[in-house]
Amino acid sequence: MEKIKVTVWNEFRHEKSNEAIKAIYPEGMHKAIGKGIAADDLEIRYATLDEPDHGLTDEVINSTDVMIWWGHCAHGEVRDDIVAKVHKRVLEGMGLIVLHSGHFSKIFKAVTGCTCSLKWREAGERERLWNIAPYHPITQGIGEYFEVPHEEMYGERFDIPKDSEIIFISHFEGGNVFRSGVTLERGYGKIFYFQPGHESYPSYYQKEVLQVIGNAVRWAKPVFFREMSAPMTPALDEIRSENTGPFTGIIQNVDGSAK
Ligand code: ZN
Repeated sequence: MEKIKVTVWNEFRHEKSNEAIKAIYPEGMHKAIGKGIAADDLEIRYATLDEPDHGLTDEVINSTDVMIWWGHCAHGEVRDDIVAKVHKRVLEGMGLIVLHSGHFSKIFKAVTGCTCSLKWREAGERERLWNIAPYHPITQGIGEYFEVPHEEMYGERFDIPKDSEIIFISHFEGGNVFRSGVTLERGYGKIFYFQPGHESYPSYYQKEVLQVIGNAVRWAKPVFFREMSAPMTPALDEIRSENTGPFTGIIQNVDGSAK
């Protein structure tokens, strides 16, 4: 069985700069997530912001089936050329799972084309995630709902595309609601956004959170990789209309440049 190649990308700054957060995630959130979802069908690697090329060399990007992304305080430090490469790879088929504060990452804004703005509050309140897609591969093993004892509140309105399929809706103790699990398809790639995972709570040790992320990895696994292009295509049937030209016949790349 060919394993799914997973790259867990983490900004990995809070865990180094804040003692309380380091105490929760001594090896970083990426390692907690990777170890938490570890299974025989997954080959898991890690990449972090402060490595050369943020750990995302062409070799890593091009050999990743599903990328998991956690970022927060340093979205602006992620190089645009690397974001462009990750984005291109998503369009070609790579799965992308964006976690928590990754809603404001360059890559999530790129794949959604939205501001991805929302409301927030850090009050350690209980989050109840309602499973509204029980038929979906991402929710298998999850009951009608589950609770995270303490999370950062994220509240509506969440500015995401209208074609997002809602998998979880959260209710927070303080009264707000949030579309906390949504899927999108862009190009040939599948994308899942999942809300839990504020750095000061141990959410990435919770069984249900890890189950959802693991399910999402398998759901987002590419069926194939294929370059997106805009090919000129020959007619299947005879064309009887008179040519009215002139025709320019420019073959373009998907980014709009001429081939
Ligand atoms: Zn947070």
